[in-house]
Order: sequence, then structure tokens, then C-alpha cells
Amino acid sequence: MHVVMIGGSDAGISAALRARELDPAADVTVVLEDAYPNFSICGIPYYVSGEVTHWRNLAHRTTADLEAAGMRLRTDTTARRIDVAGRKLLVTTAGGGEEVLGYDKLVIGTGAVPVRPPITGLSGPDALGPADGVHLLHSMGDTFAVMRTLEEATPASAVIVGAGYIGLEMADALTVRGLCVTQMEQLPEVLPTVDPQLGALVHAELASRGVEVLTGTAVQAISTAPPGGSGRLQVQAAAAGGTAVTRQADLVLVVVGVRPETALAADAGAALGSKGAIVVDTGMRTGLPDIYAAGDCVITHHRLLGETYLPLGTTAHKQGRVAGENALGGNRQFAGSLGTQVVKIFDQAAARTGLRDHEAAAAGYDPVTTETRADDHKAYYPGSHRITIRVTGDRATGRLLGMQLFGHKDAEIAKRTDIAATAIYHGMTVDAVCDLDLSYTPPLGSPWDAVQIAAQAWVRQTRPR
Ligand SMILES: Cc1cc2nc3c(=O)[nH]c(=O)nc-3n(C[C@H](O)[C@H](O)[C@H](O)COP(=O)(O)OP(=O)(O)OC[C@H]3O[C@@H](n4cnc5c(N)ncnc54)[C@H](O)[C@@H]3O)c2cc1C
Repeated sequence: MHVVMIGGSDAGISAALRARELDPAADVTVVLEDAYPNFSICGIPYYVSGEVTHWRNLAHRTTADLEAAGMRLRTDTTARRIDVAGRKLLVTTAGGGEEVLGYDKLVIGTGAVPVRPPITGLSGPDALGPADGVHLLHSMGDTFAVMRTLEEATPASAVIVGAGYIGLEMADALTVRGLCVTQMEQLPEVLPTVDPQLGALVHAELASRGVEVLTGTAVQAISTAPPGGSGRLQVQAAAAGGTAVTRQADLVLVVVGVRPETALAADAGAALGSKGAIVVDTGMRTGLPDIYAAGDCVITHHRLLGETYLPLGTTAHKQGRVAGENALGGNRQFAGSLGTQVVKIFDQAAARTGLRDHEAAAAGYDPVTTETRADDHKAYYPGSHRITIRVTGDRATGRLLGMQLFGHKDAEIAKRTDIAATAIYHGMTVDAVCDLDLSYTPPLGSPWDAVQIAAQAWVRQTRPR
């Protein structure tokens, strides 16, 4: 049995590891178009900031570890075409030649590519690029290009286009490196994946660290700045009401989201769904014979929403594992995402799981959302922090639908979000969260955990009067 994985990141490598784990005799080949298998691209901001001191440290596993697990790695090799009927994959090899690889089962893990928004100066024959200090960010190659700009051009300032989680992590990273950062976001508040009430707290943290945050500001053009300015690049944008905004900077980073990389699968006849991602069933089958797909290139089965597109590393790992198991004849199911995510912004963290109020309403629930502040541990013990918690539950059934948290990075924001994720996964009511037997000692918690205090507040506010 020869199993071929296309893609050497979270999904492809997870599939390969699972296949080898289940059958140490399986012949497993991973084809990837760059030379960086199994690198944690989630860690890129911390390498750029200098907190991770060498790019090699971002590897989840070294090439030697992967080869020791029994997989063959074909680096710098691009998959060009899938011959579905003949079970063959045409690739361009590192040397530039073409080669045909036969397979019994194929797992597509081609991931996502950064969106290049329609900003003048970003595309076309005269487009500005890394050599000019204008960057997108997704791969290790993109990272090396950013680092070259930082080390060779020693920029003093940066404009970041986009204030999603990667934009925020990069604002943190570039500020830590000593750059003056301006963040431009066309939506009314930063981190639009959480409610604006929490986005405003993130905004305040950025501002307190010296980041100039311009929300409601749509970038229109990036160009070379006229001589004598405060940076080598010029960014022109329109603020609310059409007011022109211009900033000069030495580096511009455009991070406005990703789109699934699906050309190869689509050419082979795979169906595309939400946001153009490959349609798969919960067993990660594409519907094409013997072809599975996983990670950022596929639609996401969501436990509350059904099919959506939610590209995340945690999901890619799980889906890859399912694909690897099923490629070997298994019948594993991807249990579904809740979109659980967390981001650190300087000393604060913001997280969410499940649905926000408007998402729940659109999905047919009767949502109620409440906001509560609670201490992460007993306030009499030094170092306590207030956490802001927004709970969304269904009025009709009392079911917990979503939770969002914001607080100090030492306040266990991620793990408290995971309590909510676990409760939502199991279909618990908000009231039942109050009954969970959670741990307590004054330096680390309270007799009622902050999550339970927030759940109690939701129950109090929705109780029929
Ligand atoms: C800066 C940054 C921070 C992030 N932080 C987080 C985080 O904190 N938490 C989180 O959950 N997620 C995070 N993510 C998202 C997460 O990294 C992705 O969801 C995850 O890496 C997706 O994995 P993947 O294997 O599906 O795809 P990708 O990582 O996109 O990898 C695709 C792979 O396919 C290869 N490939 C593509 N086309 C071909 C071809 N034709 N032939 C051969 N090879 C090909 C590529 O070379 C690559 O190896 C972050 C992403 C970035 C960029």
C-alpha cells in the first residue's frame, strides 16, 4: 500500500504520522513544495519578535524525526496534476524535472494561501513585494523574507494591514522588535472574530503599547514614498466618511486572511463548497476514489453550524489524523470544530469557542449573551487579574452555545475557554456548567471558577420573572 500526502504542514504530516503509526509497513510519501516539513507556522510571530531564537526551533519535528517515523519526504516537489483513474500524481521535482508517482491512496493537504486584497500596488506587473519591504505572511519562505527586510533594511516603522489574530500577533512582535507600528483595519473594531466589547479591550491593549490603531480604515494603495518622508513606503487609506489617511513606513505587512489552496483538487474533479474549500465528509473523503483531503484546504464540519470554513491549526491536525487513518481502511470521523481559538496580544489574551450572538441567531437559536467580570483567583492572593467573560446560551433550551474571554495572559484564558469548549461539545446547558467539579486553591482559582460565575450570571439574567 503506497499512501501519498500532498502538503508537509499540519494536515499532511498528521496524516502521514497516523498512517505509519497504524501500519508500520505502510509505504508513506509526503510531497511538499518547500523545504520545511512540519514547521509550526503558528509560531512565526514569536520567531519574528526574537522570543524564539532560531527558525529551526519552530519545527514540531525535525526531518530526521519524520524519517525515523518511516515516511519518505519529497521536499521542493510540487504536485501538478492528479490522474484519478490511473491513481497517479504528476510532480515537478526539486531539480525541475517531471515525475509520476503511483499511489493507492492520496491525501490532499495543500492548505491555504494568504489573501491578496485588491489594493493598488499589491498586484500587477509593477507590484511591490518583499524586496521593497511589502510582505504577505504564511509560509517559512514568507518568514525568511520578512526577516531579511528586518535585518537588512533595519526598518523603524511598519504598517500592518489587517487586525485579525495574525495581524495582532505581528503588531506585538514588531513592537517587541522596536518598530513603531500602525495597524489598519477596515472593520469598526480589531479582532472581529470576537464581540466588539472584547475587541475594544484588545484595542486598548495595543494602544497602551504604542501601536497606532486605525479602525474603520480601508487601505487603498501602497506605493514607494516620495523622498524626504518618514519611511520608504506610503500607505493610503480611506477612513469613515471617506477621509483620506496616509502613513509612511519602512515595512508593510498585509495579513487579511487566507483562502483555501484547491486548484489541484478542483482540476481533478473534487467538489468545492464553503469559501471554495474542498468538500469532504466527516471521514475526510473527497468523493473522488481513494482521495482524502484535510486541513485549511477543506470545508470545516462545525458541531453547531454544520458546514463552514474555519482554517485553524488544531483542526488541521485532527482532520489529517482522520484522513491518515481512513486512507489505511479505517472509519474514523472528524468530530467537528467549535472554532475554539486564542490569541495573545502583549500581556493580554482573547479567546472564543462556539457561537457569538448573531451567529447563533443566524443558525436558528434564540440566543442571549451576558457579560461578567470575575477574578482569575482569590483577589486577596497577590497577582489576581479580572477576566471579562461573555456567555452565549439558547434561551429556549438553556444550552451553552458560546463563550468569549479576555484577560491577562497569566489568567488561564485558554484553559478556561477549553472548559467551555468541552461543555459545548457535550451539549451541556449553561446551568450545568455551574455544577462542574473544577479545581480550587486561592492562588490559582476560586471556589466558583470565573467561568462558573459567568454561567451563574447568565442563568440569573435569563430566569423567567
Ligand atoms: C502566522 C500564523 C499564525 C497562526 N497561528 C495559529 C494559532 O495560533 N492557532 C491555530 O490553530 N492556527 C494558527 N494558524 C493557522 C494554522 O497554521 C493553519 O491552520 C495550519 O497550518 C493549516 O495546516 P495545513 O496543513 O492544512 O496547511 P498549510 O500550513 O497551509 O500547509 C500546506 C502545505 O501544502 C504544501 N503545498 C501546497 N500546494 C502544494 C502542491 N501543489 N504540491 C506540494 N505541496 C503543496 C505547502 O508547501 C505546505 O507544506 C496560524 C497561521 C499563521 C500563518
